Amino acid sequence: MSEKGLFQKIIDGEIPAERVYEDDDFVAFKDVAPKAPVHLLVVPKTFSPRLDEMLDAQGPADVGALLEAAIKTARANGLHDYRLVINVGPGAGQEVFHTHVHIMAGWEEAAPLG
Ligand code: AMP
Repeated sequence: MSEKGLFQKIIDGEIPAERVYEDDDFVAFKDVAPKAPVHLLVVPKTFSPRLDEMLDAQGPADVGALLEAAIKTARANGLHDYRLVINVGPGAGQEVFHTHVHIMAGWEEAAPLG
């Protein structure tokens, strides 16, 4: 059996994380090295290594459910405007091979436009 990955350990409570949303199928927590004033990660409890493999193994409904969970996480954290990023593969910057969505927001508070 392969070794449990970082995000699976967070899901199972074996590594601490600041959780900001959870339901039966997803957990969201703060990114430990934020690249935006607000930087959250939304992670499916069912393991897949990357988004395209999730589509192949689980189908489009689960890909849609991941986006739904990201929107629910944003709303639960009072976010109205935000960026969703999914890195798919190492060439695109994916470092943790457990499918996840980045939610990034909060620039308007940090540096008001105009
Ligand atoms: P990616 O590059 O798309 O695979 O994103 C992985 C993200 O996981 C990065 O933004 C990291 O800062 C974040 N990360 C790594 N370790 C942890 C951790 N223990 N808790 C929370 N976020 C983490």
